[in-house]
Amino acid sequence: MKIGILSTNRNLYSTKRIIEAGKERGHEMLVVNHKRCYMNITSHKPSVHLNGEAITGLDAVIPRIGASVSFYGTAVVRQFEMMGVYSVNESVAISRSRDKLRASQLLARRGIGLPVTGFANSPDDTDDLIKIAGGAPVVIKLLEGTQGVGVVLAETKKAAESVIEAFRGLKANFMVQEFIAEAGGADIRCFVVGGKVVAAMKRQGKEGEFRSNLHRGGSATLIKLTPEERSTAVRSARVMGLNVAGVDLLRSNHGPVVMEVNSSPGLEGIEQATGKDVAGMIIEFIEKNAKAGRTRTRGKG
Ligand code: ADP
Repeated sequence: MKIGILSTNRNLYSTKRIIEAGKERGHEMLVVNHKRCYMNITSHKPSVHLNGEAITGLDAVIPRIGASVSFYGTAVVRQFEMMGVYSVNESVAISRSRDKLRASQLLARRGIGLPVTGFANSPDDTDDLIKIAGGAPVVIKLLEGTQGVGVVLAETKKAAESVIEAFRGLKANFMVQEFIAEAGGADIRCFVVGGKVVAAMKRQGKEGEFRSNLHRGGSATLIKLTPEERSTAVRSARVMGLNVAGVDLLRSNHGPVVMEVNSSPGLEGIEQATGKDVAGMIIEFIEKNAKAGRTRTRGKG
């Protein structure tokens, strides 16, 4: 098969591993920098172009789209879908999971455990918002944040009010969330491929840090999931419509709660912590499922 990886950097660990895994299985692997693609949006012959040439003959694409290019990146994925190219994660699914507010609402609708979370737009409701989240301590998060930047633990009501005021002053969208203290600065990354958790790791924040992000110095270890955690991860990926997803859970007193469902989960941490060939599993999934026109929405928004 000829498989395209939508990635802005061929030297990233995840991109390199997917290329390697595809080549090992005899596929032709093409890195497509979605930021540099341009498109001809016509109904009879939609196309995607790069460096003066139309991209043709792809059987499947693997989107690896960073949060900062979600808007344009998903448009490129949608264009491939319109061309009948199979996308392992569809554009609508990526958009759903990228919008934290939309994702939380969809997960809640299906009864998936979430931290109690308040959102607001107007400046008048700070008090009630903190109350909704169960009162201090609360976690306040920028909607646009990634890798733990813009995630603040406010231990007192006063601190929460100041942070909310600051975020509002910056006109930033944010949410106020119950602080899951019992998670002890750890979260669980479940890597889901084709409706199964194929690898899982526990990430522990460094001493004195409640955020477990590996980019912030957290460390990863193997973990055995409970059946409830496993099914929460699988159901979350399904609700988003993602075939490949990184589902982040916290262990709370009221069961597993979902923090985030990531549509381009990194491979480095999970492959190193588990010793599993996750890249190979993504390629295998494509081998079994990619057929021209098999993308369900075919580019529908
Ligand atoms: P990002 O998407 O920027 O990584 P997250 O929402 O995943 O932001 O938060 C980063 C980390 O902070 C999480 O992995 C988790 O360890 C910790 N964290 C986030 N929200 C909570 C919460 N409500 N209670 C306890 N810990 C939290």
